[in-house]
Amino acid sequence: MSVHVQSLDEFFSMLVEEQRDIRITLAGLEDAGQPVALDQTTQGRVSRIDAISQQHMAKAGSSRLMIQLDRIKAALDRYESGRYGICCRCELEIGHGRLMADPAAPFCLECTEELAEAKQHNMRRNAGR
Ligand SMILES: [Zn+2]
Repeated sequence: MSVHVQSLDEFFSMLVEEQRDIRITLAGLEDAGQPVALDQTTQGRVSRIDAISQQHMAKAGSSRLMIQLDRIKAALDRYESGRYGICCRCELEIGHGRLMADPAAPFCLECTEELAEAKQHNMRRNAGR
């Protein structure tokens, strides 16, 4: 049984596809973010409440998607400059398993863990005394 190794081109298409999907979703969320129509003839009270809660969800969802869009854009920039798949911190190769799970990953697993630990450490230090 041979292990299928993903080529960088495949990650590139995954990123382009995700970028397109997010843009489509964001465009849809923008529509949902429009002021809720007050016209009671076309919308009952219940559907108006639905529309308002959808608006809140749209706001929360879109900021998360904007962050992901930035990550994807940064990854595509790295691809263009031939640095895709290389850790932005230690400059070692990022494992393909990790890129499979997150094609926009800017750091290798080790650096991600170290950065998370450092962040936790800082939070503990700031919280203490
Ligand atoms: Zn690294």
